[in-house]
Amino acid sequence: MAALQGNVQPIRLKYSVQQALGKHLLSSYPHEACGVLLGAAAAGGMLIDTYVPMRNVAPDPLHTFTPHPEEWIHVLYNEPTLIGLFHSHPHSEPIPSVADYKGLAALGPEFKVYLIGSPRTGDGCSPFLNGFYIERYSNEQGRPFPELSQAPLHVLLK
Ligand SMILES: [Zn+2]
Repeated sequence: MAALQGNVQPIRLKYSVQQALGKHLLSSYPHEACGVLLGAAAAGGMLIDTYVPMRNVAPDPLHTFTPHPEEWIHVLYNEPTLIGLFHSHPHSEPIPSVADYKGLAALGPEFKVYLIGSPRTGDGCSPFLNGFYIERYSNEQGRPFPELSQAPLHVLLK
């Protein structure tokens, strides 16, 4: 069920996840970083408790991301708490690109949240993060039509 406008449940992440995202983003720079998010639906919104970084094997890693196929398959088959996808925009704002929207159709229903991060200058490993829920609509022909709806992000302090 889609959340009502103005009443969107937050996406919550552990402090350790925020730090891990920031570190991977910076260590991958200038390439895009990518990985998956593990967690659960909980009272008060999604809770991300683990980040699994992956190698970006895209031919043009400066501007796109493709998770390493073996790492990707391993997680899909072995992580029942898989709930989302992360990647970074090292050179631009953490706003979904046209390619990001196109890529949504390839994600299975286990992917419920979508985070994009950008480097933030002068703030250590805390990235500039935007969080979205992946909403799955159908178009008039009944074909899947995924959308991203932005949600507030809450970092849980230690
Ligand atoms: Zn992107």
